[in-house]
Amino acid sequence: MSETLLHKPCSTCGATLHYQPGASSLDCPYCGSQNEISTAAGELARFDLTSAMAGEREGELPPERRLSCPSCGGEAIMAPQVFAQSCDFCETVLIDQDTSLRRFEPQGLLPFGVDEDQARDRLRRWLKSLWFAPSSLAKLARPKHRLRGVYVPYWAFDASTQTDYRGQRGTVHRVSRRVQVTRNGKSQWVTRSQNVTRWRSVSGQVERDFEDFLIQADGGLEALSDRRFSSWDTGALEAYNPDYLQGYEARLYGMDLVAGWQAAAQAMEGVIRSDIRHDIGGDKQRINTLNTRYWNQRFTLVLLPIWFSEFSFGRKRYQVVINGRTGEVRGQRPVAWWKVLVAALLVLGLVGAALVIASQIEGLSLLPPI
Ligand SMILES: [Zn+2]
Ligand SMILES: [Zn+2]
Repeated sequence: MSETLLHKPCSTCGATLHYQPGASSLDCPYCGSQNEISTAAGELARFDLTSAMAGEREGELPPERRLSCPSCGGEAIMAPQVFAQSCDFCETVLIDQDTSLRRFEPQGLLPFGVDEDQARDRLRRWLKSLWFAPSSLAKLARPKHRLRGVYVPYWAFDASTQTDYRGQRGTVHRVSRRVQVTRNGKSQWVTRSQNVTRWRSVSGQVERDFEDFLIQADGGLEALSDRRFSSWDTGALEAYNPDYLQGYEARLYGMDLVAGWQAAAQAMEGVIRSDIRHDIGGDKQRINTLNTRYWNQRFTLVLLPIWFSEFSFGRKRYQVVINGRTGEVRGQRPVAWWKVLVAALLVLGLVGAALVIASQIEGLSLLPPI
């Protein structure tokens, strides 16, 4: 496909605009903004969420595509959710420039900071640290085991929030009570101390500003679905530059902006709830109602670097992901059931022995005769 159109995002909503060289401005089909043509540089572009969400929802991902390498002429098949990959023959990065694939293009990225050898080393250490893992698992982290370096799309949201809440603060008191008990067949009064929680109604307001709140937008990588990395150094985000894709695969988002914001708002509520608990104070907290107002909502789309490892063990396939900035490992793991069984038998044996000893001491027969 020939690429005669240039493309830049709408300065208001971030949608990809197409224009012919020579035009001086273009109307955004999504939010109606008139965009002057200018060369934006420096700061990562961020866009107004409200106007962007007013546009249409995005549909299906494009089908598999055929590309030819500009360097060697080799043919490549690009999977539906991929927009950049290396040529199989000469390793040139092949980028699908068709901007109609998705409405938004990445604005920023974190370049890979952990290389394949370092990632494999992290993987090896992780595999070694696993309890009850099959011994042959360590082989997986040998140099011939290739890892896949992938730039994964993430939505990054900014928002200011203010939340009114109603709830209750619980204070735990230690109280002494006289209770009647039976000892050696005799009834008597003793003093027992107990914890009692007293609840008091409270209400208040908390404020929180979110910055670069990340939501993984791929939607198609099973290994990432329930595995969050503990941190990403978003302060180091750089403006998107395709040069960084050299040698790696880069993916289109499968979760659109509306779904991304829904996920973000839900996750933000978790943070707000913990702010409220802190604000309520006391020993225990209950939140009855909360009402959050959002403003200054902005978003951008970024690519984050992740190493993927996939392996089969027995008949199952397992996936492990390694953060391409920090080396943090998250993954599925096989269990060597014979190791678990040996450990369980050992424990059972000890318990059994303890029971035998106990029964001899107490003169009771807990175990059936063998
Ligand atoms: Zn727009
Ligand atoms: Zn090539």
